[in-house]
Formats: sequence, structure tokens, C-alpha cells
Amino acid sequence: MANDKCIFCKIASGSIKAGIVYEDDHVIAFNDIKPLAPVHVVIIPKRHIGMLSDLEDGDAELFGRLAIAAKKIAKTKGIAACGYRIVANCGPDAGQEVFHIHIHLLGGRNFTWPPG
Ligand code: 5GP
Ligand code: ZN
Repeated sequence: MANDKCIFCKIASGSIKAGIVYEDDHVIAFNDIKPLAPVHVVIIPKRHIGMLSDLEDGDAELFGRLAIAAKKIAKTKGIAACGYRIVANCGPDAGQEVFHIHIHLLGGRNFTWPPG
């Protein structure tokens, strides 16, 4: 169910190169092309889902897998103990740029709250 216009589907299929840091049967994660922190990884389901608001009840496990992948990547990147932030943007007010759901794993520096 890949979307042939979707850049993240192309990364998941390997037709566009990215710095892959994690992969399992359902999830793939890669370094963000414009990192906003020393660690900035984008974690996506391999299956195309456009927006968080498109998620259905049956996607609950898949979305949970993104958080579990983030935990594993944080450990390998050495930011598990000092802490990290997960961000998921949905729609225009949140600034979503790529319409294939993803979470950002950010770490390696201090983050402010509330977010900008
Ligand atoms: P959004 O604003 O949709 O939450 O975040 C999309 C993220 O994907 C941005 O941080 C952007 O830098 C990243 N991104 C967009 N295109 C590419 C790409 O082709 N390769 C990689 N590695 N990251 C990308
Ligand atoms: Zn896609």
C-alpha cells in the first residue's frame, strides 16, 4: 500500500537513500535530513498512513511500535539516560511537511517547554 508520490514510502522501499538507523518488519527509522538536535531521527511505519488523524482503532499496535522503536534507538544513540523528546506533527497548524505519519526522536541537548 505504498503511495508512489510519498517520499517516506520511497525511503521505506529503498528507492530513496537515507541514513537508516533502525528497521524491523513494521517500522523504519532514519536520520532527519535537516537535524534540529544532535540526535534527530524520523521513525515511520512502513505502511503508508497520511496523517495522525487518519489512524484507526486497528492501528493502535502499529503506532505503539513507533514509540518502542524510539526507545531502542535512544539507547543505541546514547540518549536513553539523559532523556529525549518525541514529536508528532499533524496538519498545517503543527507544521506537518511530509504526509506519511512519523514521530521525531530528538535528543542530545536541552529542550524548552512549552514548544514553539
Ligand atoms: P514534519 O514537519 O512533517 O513533522 O517532518 C518531516 C521531517 O522529514 C522534517 O524534519 C524533514 O527535515 C524530514 N525530511 C523531509 N524529507 C526528507 C528526506 O528526503 N530525507 C530525510 N532523511 N528526511 C527528510
Ligand atoms: Zn508514504
